[in-house]
Amino acid sequence: MEFELIRQYFEVPFASLAAQHRHSLHRGIGDDCAQLGLPENHTLYVSSDTAVEAVHFFRDDSASQIAAKALASNLSDLAACGAQPLGFSLNLTLPPRCLEPSWLEAFSSGLLHQAITHDCPLIGGDTTRGPCLVVSITVYGHAPQAHHGFHRSFAKTGQDVWVSGVPGLARLGMLYAYQIRNSLANLYPDAQRHQEVLRLLEKFDPSTRAKAQRAFEAPVPRVSLGLGLRPLASACLDLSDGLSGDLRHIAKQSAVALQLQSEGLLACWRHVFDGAQGALENDLLALSLAGGDDYELCFTAAAQHRGAVEQLSKHLSLPLHRIGVVLDGAGVFLHKSNGQVLSVDSTSYNHFSGALHIS
Ligand code: ADP
Ligand code: MG
Repeated sequence: MEFELIRQYFEVPFASLAAQHRHSLHRGIGDDCAQLGLPENHTLYVSSDTAVEAVHFFRDDSASQIAAKALASNLSDLAACGAQPLGFSLNLTLPPRCLEPSWLEAFSSGLLHQAITHDCPLIGGDTTRGPCLVVSITVYGHAPQAHHGFHRSFAKTGQDVWVSGVPGLARLGMLYAYQIRNSLANLYPDAQRHQEVLRLLEKFDPSTRAKAQRAFEAPVPRVSLGLGLRPLASACLDLSDGLSGDLRHIAKQSAVALQLQSEGLLACWRHVFDGAQGALENDLLALSLAGGDDYELCFTAAAQHRGAVEQLSKHLSLPLHRIGVVLDGAGVFLHKSNGQVLSVDSTSYNHFSGALHIS
């Protein structure tokens, strides 16, 4: 049964992608081990991520969305290191409802679509039954030995801080996802706060709303950006916990301060929404700083690379914004357009933070 399931949904549909990678994927699904070859003078990059039903995704999310997002979050880690995908393995725990052919077919095709988009073959895995759906993926990638891998300790005073896309947009999409399920109160037990969030959600037009939902449901791992940044970026990470939390890692490990400019963050938002003024601007900043699940890349680069980063942005048709600078000191700060400089730990920017509370 399991053998037939693996063959039908994971071996056969993925065979042609695997065949295109014969040079590096010497042995794939169907043997005891997969066997991968690395190009000469390259190093291996490995990362794992697990998604658990009702913790990382809604139970009613579509199978194809769950699959595509699980692979996206793994590929995003390779992107943040500037590594080229080599392949991925898939460990699946399936509850009874997920043994239906229609569910498995949708899961397999969502996964295949993402794998083809990023040219990353499925190399093997494990399949078991269990009480709830768990999707655990490990990705393997490579980069030349000479590539330094964008360590979080590589930010230097004087460098610019850049970000791709619209940080915070996915968190806005998550709020809509809760609203649609009538479960915003799980996130905001305080009735007044709940009402404020409902009023905020009404302020966005249908097009912005659709973009936000898409950013949350179907994040795009920035693999090509990571590759293009190899000669340009120093420190880099992918945004999974929100800018303020994620940037704290760079500030701490590089022993520097990071100062963000509110104007830079609002410029990111203008790609999807240009009606922000006054209090709404503060909400957008809070979404950017505290919101998670973006899977955008945030990196530091020397000022001499500004032109090259802008070229890369054009080449990839992906907005890249300069949102701050690296300074001597410690911590993460926000420089507001009125001249004020605030620590981003300040509670006024924390109200969209926190893990999902899916129930
Ligand atoms: P073993 O008993 O040797 O561990 P399995 O029966 O677990 O073998 O798996 C058989 C083959 O199918 C292996 O090559 C394994 O990598 C692959 N496989 C199992 N589950 C998956 C999956 N969910 N996706 C891709 N390959 C899988
Ligand atoms: Mg096994």
